[in-house]
Amino acid sequence: MLASDNKVKEEVYCLRCYQRADEKDKYCVKCGSPLVNRCTEEKTLLSKGCNKVNRKDAAYCSSCGAPTVFNLAGLVPGQR
Ligand SMILES: [Zn+2]
Ligand SMILES: [Zn+2]
Repeated sequence: MLASDNKVKEEVYCLRCYQRADEKDKYCVKCGSPLVNRCTEEKTLLSKGCNKVNRKDAAYCSSCGAPTVFNLAGLVPGQR
């Protein structure tokens, strides 16, 4: 018995088509929707880029204020 094995495997589903996805997947294999709500702030000469992973309901990055990939894909709950 491994008492320390309390790692709960998080189940990931596509927000658009509800396809079951692997934890490590970044995009849905069925419809190509992003599964990780990353910041879209890109690496430029002036910026190192953000790449923060935000909550699934975040329309904007909590770190830098740039739109998230879920925002651009129209996947933020309650967003029109
Ligand atoms: Zn999908
Ligand atoms: Zn950001």
